[in-house]
Amino acid sequence: MFYDLTRTLHPRIAVFPGDTPVTIQPTLRMRAGDSCNVTAITMSAHAGTHVDAPRHYSDDGAGIDAVPLDVLIGPARVVTLNVVGAITIADLQAALRDIERALRDAPRLLVHTHASDAADEAWDPAFAHFDAQAADWLGAHGLRLIGTDAPSVDPATSKDLPAHRAFLRHGVIIVENLCLRGVPDGEYELMALPLKIADNDAGPARVVLRR
Ligand SMILES: [Zn+2]
Repeated sequence: MFYDLTRTLHPRIAVFPGDTPVTIQPTLRMRAGDSCNVTAITMSAHAGTHVDAPRHYSDDGAGIDAVPLDVLIGPARVVTLNVVGAITIADLQAALRDIERALRDAPRLLVHTHASDAADEAWDPAFAHFDAQAADWLGAHGLRLIGTDAPSVDPATSKDLPAHRAFLRHGVIIVENLCLRGVPDGEYELMALPLKIADNDAGPARVVLRR
């Protein structure tokens, strides 16, 4: 059984205020007498469901094309966190109980918050984000990938991105804008495959769980 965690890309999907929205422009149309249908797409690499590359927050960081597949594919755990504001170590301890064991079995963690309930078009700046200490704590315990249904692991107004940087220090790859609506908590196989764009700071991704 599969769960598709991917937000569908369309011109009205919410993006960070000021970021490039999605446009989908027909360039050839059979109805207009062309031999086939062809479309040109423009968008921020961070629109919709996507994987952040280390390049997003470090000029020396790896591009999205260099993020290893063995991080992007493998056992993952979904946990629901009824958190408003910052996700703390205490929140994670309550949800995961034995962190050593939880991350040994599944070193990828997807957090399900109220953001999954929002429509694709809705921009809600009050999304749950990670306390930098919580990000450090997860990284120190061997986390390899963090997924969130929020648009960022840091608050919408953050300029210094402390949680992004904490995850980066531990080599944890970040997946954002998931939709976990209707996905039960538990352990799955994750497949998060970003487009392979040379040296890029992110890649739009199809993200799927298999039970
Ligand atoms: Zn991003």
